Amino acid sequence: MSTGTVASAGLADSSEPPVGPTGPAGPAGPAAVALPPRAERAERARQAAERLRAGGVEAVAVTWVDNAGIARAKAVPLDGLVHAAQWGVGAAPCFDVFLADDSITTSRLIGGPTGDLRLYPDLDRVVPLAAQPGWAWAPGERYTQAGGPHPGCQRLFARRMEAAAATRGLGVKAGIEVEWTVALAGPPQQEPQYPTYGPAYGMQRLTDLSDYLRDVLRALGEQGLTVLQIHPEYAPGQFEVSLAPEGPVGAADTSVLVRHTIRAVGARHGLRASFAPVVEAGAVGNGGHLHLSLWHDGQNLGRGGPGPHGLTAEAEGFLAGVLGALPELLVLGCSSPAGYLRLVPSHWAGAYQCWGLENREAALRLVTGSSGERSTVANAEVKCFDATANPYLAVGAVLAAGLAGLDQRLALPPEFTGDPAHAAPGTVPRLPAGPAEAVAAYQKSAVLREALGDPLFEAVLAVRQAEVEQYASATPEQLVAATRWRY
Ligand code: GLU
Ligand code: MG
Repeated sequence: MSTGTVASAGLADSSEPPVGPTGPAGPAGPAAVALPPRAERAERARQAAERLRAGGVEAVAVTWVDNAGIARAKAVPLDGLVHAAQWGVGAAPCFDVFLADDSITTSRLIGGPTGDLRLYPDLDRVVPLAAQPGWAWAPGERYTQAGGPHPGCQRLFARRMEAAAATRGLGVKAGIEVEWTVALAGPPQQEPQYPTYGPAYGMQRLTDLSDYLRDVLRALGEQGLTVLQIHPEYAPGQFEVSLAPEGPVGAADTSVLVRHTIRAVGARHGLRASFAPVVEAGAVGNGGHLHLSLWHDGQNLGRGGPGPHGLTAEAEGFLAGVLGALPELLVLGCSSPAGYLRLVPSHWAGAYQCWGLENREAALRLVTGSSGERSTVANAEVKCFDATANPYLAVGAVLAAGLAGLDQRLALPPEFTGDPAHAAPGTVPRLPAGPAEAVAAYQKSAVLREALGDPLFEAVLAVRQAEVEQYASATPEQLVAATRWRY
C-alpha cells in the first residue's frame, strides 16, 4: 500500500548531524527524518523547477502548520527553489508558540526572539496551484541550521510516527474529511451572509453554487487529488469534501492543500470559506474527521480477525489505544477553545468517549462498508476532531496512541449503539466539555509526551494554556467571532 510521500529518508551530508542536538529521534529512530544529501536535494529541485516553469509557475509557497492549527507560509520565486532545497528558507522558532490570533506566548524549551530554523520544501509533494495561476505549493519541514531535525517540527513528528508504524510492519492509510461553510466575501467582523440558503443536504445548494463547486472539483483534480465525494452538509452554507485515503503524512498535506484550494477558488467567486469549528454559535459545526485503516501485506486489519465486527487483534488494540486516549488527543485534534462549542452531544460531532459500528454520535466510529467491499474499505473514523487541528499533530498523535494500544494488546470495551446522550447518566463517559479538561488529561499523558518529545509537547501545551486563558471569560458569540475567519 501507499505510505504517501515519506519514502526518501536517505542519508544526511557528512557535515550534517542526522539528529538535532536537542531533538528526540522518536521511536522510529533518526533515519526516518534525516535530510537527503544536499547535492541530491539540489538536483531534484532543478528537475522540479524545470517542470514547474513549463507549467507557468513563477513562485512556490512553502507552508507549515503551527501549534494553533494555522498554516503559515514563506514563498520563494521559482528561481530560488534550488537554493531553498539546498539551504532551506529562514523561519523563526517563535512560530512554535504563535496563537491563532497571531499573539505569541513562550514555552520552556522553544520560543523567544532568538535563533533561526530552515524550512525545506518537500519536493515530492510540490504542485502547481490550479486556482492561483503562477503559484505552486509545497509542504515544508523544519530543520536546524546544523541540519538536524527541529524537535518542534510537526510534519517530522508525523513522519516519525508513520515510520514507527512501519517498523511494526504496519501500513496506514488515512484521510481527513473537510467540512466548510461558504459565505459572501466581507470584512472579518462581519457575520456570515450565505450565497445559498438551500436546505441541509439539499440539491438546491448544489444548484445555487454550481459553478463554484465545479471549480473546486476541477482545481482539486488538476492538483492530482482524488475526490471521493462532495456534498451539501447540515448547517447553513455548509459543504463537505472527502478525498481518497493515502499515507498519514500525505493525508495531512492534502488537508492543508484542499482547504487553501477551496479558499482560492472562493476568492474568484466573491466567496470566502470558514473551516472554523463553529461559524454561528449554537449551530452545527465543521468537523475534521480523521479516517484510518491499518494494513499488513495488503490485508486490511479491520477485517478477518477474531475481534468485534472482524477486527484483528492488532486493529482492536490500536483502536482501544486511541479510544482510551481521546481526552488528551483532543488537545491535538481539537485545538481551539472554539472547538468545544461544536463538540456537543447530538450534533454528530462525537462528544462521547465510546465506539460503535456506523455510530455518528460515537467519538470513534467503525466503518465496515457494504458486503463485498469490506476488506478494502473498512476503517475507523475519529469524529471528535475539527479543522483547528494541526493535521500533522493529529495524525501523529493518533498513531502514537494507537501503536501504544497495539503494543499492549488492549481490548475494546463493549460498543455503544444509538445516541449516548439518551443513555442512563454515567453510562458513557463524556469527552472533555472544555479545553482546560483536555489540557489536564494531556499533561498526564506519558505516551504523548514521549512520542512528541519534550520541546514539541511543551510548545503545544503553552499554546493551549495561553488560548484557554485568552478566552476564559468569552461568551460563545465572542469566541465564535474571534475564530470564525481565522480557520
Ligand atoms: N458536521 C458534523 C461535525 O461537526 C459532522 C457531520 C457528519 O457526520 O458528517 O463533525
Ligand atoms: Mg460531514
